[in-house]
Amino acid sequence: MAVPLLDLNIQNLALEGDLKSAFERVLRSGQFILGPEVQELESRIAAMADVRHGIGVSSGTDAILLALMALEIGPGDEVLCPSFTFFATAGCVARVGAKPVFVDSCLYCFNLDVADVERKVTSRTKAIIPVHLFGQCADMDRVMAVADRHDLPVIEDAAQSLGSVYRGKKAGNFGAFGVFSLFPSKNLGGFGDGGVLVTDDDELADRARMLRAHGAKPKYFHKYVGGNFRLDPLQAALVAVKLPHYENFTRNRVSNAEWYDRALGALEGVSRAPATDSICGTGADAGSKPSKGAARIILPRPYSHNEHIWNQHTLRVLGDGRRDALRRLLTERKIGSEIYYPVPMHRQECFAYLGEAGPLPVADRLASECLSIPIYPELTRTQQEEVVDAVKAFLES
Ligand SMILES: *Cc1c(COP(=O)(O)O)cnc(C)c1O
Repeated sequence: MAVPLLDLNIQNLALEGDLKSAFERVLRSGQFILGPEVQELESRIAAMADVRHGIGVSSGTDAILLALMALEIGPGDEVLCPSFTFFATAGCVARVGAKPVFVDSCLYCFNLDVADVERKVTSRTKAIIPVHLFGQCADMDRVMAVADRHDLPVIEDAAQSLGSVYRGKKAGNFGAFGVFSLFPSKNLGGFGDGGVLVTDDDELADRARMLRAHGAKPKYFHKYVGGNFRLDPLQAALVAVKLPHYENFTRNRVSNAEWYDRALGALEGVSRAPATDSICGTGADAGSKPSKGAARIILPRPYSHNEHIWNQHTLRVLGDGRRDALRRLLTERKIGSEIYYPVPMHRQECFAYLGEAGPLPVADRLASECLSIPIYPELTRTQQEEVVDAVKAFLES
């Protein structure tokens, strides 16, 4: 049986009846720009981050852009963000004319290294964008401490982490803004592009709402130079169909991760990332000892204070060329996998003009070691067994 990295049809077709009703409701409403469908989704997503305002936007990327615009960040400003992330985080900083300043990552939680954030703050720094990568929150107490010390706003890139929890607080609740994405591969996957920007600040919410629609309020009176960053009511209505099932989706992802942890963790040569954050961002190599031999694969493990939502289940495969070898073997067996992310941002051609950003040794290392395997909610145990068999064969080869 093939094991895809993600199978959207299982989840979507199970909701076909409700999705069709939502479509019909919007069709008959005759309202295709903003309105109650968008407002309803906005308030429900805001509630999932325990904040008061949600702003439905055209994508997670545009949510980041809008947050930067609302904070009036532009030319001459620097914004700290991880190098090991999806392009949108740094791309938006560059698009508003500011300079992305790349920060290294933690070898274990994949999130930004807060000590490196602190080292890279300058008088030009205007914001910090931590990314809650793969479904687990960055070390937000420490991020917020640095931000407070230097009086900097924080934009949480929580595109992969809707509903994720850090020490009892929800992702998107810490910063001036939180960003969520409805891209189909995210945990709350939509039917096209979409995103929601959240904030607890009335003034920022007001400004972001204006900027979302050409910076005008009322219509045709332009206070700011905004854009068209609106979420469609049709998209909002369809996504809302999934919301009552979201907790269940997350439970299944968590259960799949726990199953991998037991099954893969029992293999010779596999060790686990440390479950406490005492080592976070130190770059030190540590974790559980593999049952036998040296560690060749490191399993992801959430820090004990975090609730991980497992947007991705990302292994580290140690040794030159070994990650790519595992990927080839998985492909031969028709098992889906993906390299998130093969090239860190400080090595991207489009950022060459920024000059030398390094050294960012952990970002470089993660780009060569990471491999994400199937974790989606509808994955069956039989499929997971196939993945484990393949990894076992790889370790024995
Ligand atoms: C998906 C993603 C985005 C962008 O979201 P889109 O909705 O695809 O524009 C931004 N940051 C991270 C970390 C992401 O994973």
